[in-house]
Amino acid sequence: MTGESKEIELLTNDSGTLSMPYEWSIGKYGSLFFKYLREKRRFLGIRCPRCGKVMVPPRRICGPCFQDLGEKDIVELSDTGTIMAFSVVNYPFIDPATGLKRPIPYTYGYINIDGSDNIFSHVINGTDETKIKVGMKVRAVFREKMEGNIQDIKYFEIIR
Ligand SMILES: [Zn+2]
Repeated sequence: MTGESKEIELLTNDSGTLSMPYEWSIGKYGSLFFKYLREKRRFLGIRCPRCGKVMVPPRRICGPCFQDLGEKDIVELSDTGTIMAFSVVNYPFIDPATGLKRPIPYTYGYINIDGSDNIFSHVINGTDETKIKVGMKVRAVFREKMEGNIQDIKYFEIIR
């Protein structure tokens, strides 16, 4: 180095292609939820016998009051809900569910499924933030060939 300011050439290394397929158990209640979704195209929730809150998807423990929950507490819910919050995303990233870059923009929503007391997050169709409002009603749109996973829900469409 001579002490003079020189532009540095930034180099890269190529690590090649990495493939890392994996799978994991979604548990008893997760399996019930996605099996029902696949077969009935409806959501299952679970009603806490202590505090009365209904959560979707079903879980073993009530979040608000820590009550143990059982299969007897499972309830059928609608395929409709209300937008509680949303965000139009313009930042590209690799979707962990598919391993592919998700096309932008897309809208991610926090949806209160009718009959439940919590939030279910998923994609809402439409990306014009001036036309999407908190409080709008949405309905789940399912793909034709249901496989029993979260991609069975293509998106939630705004119905009013
Ligand atoms: Zn509870």
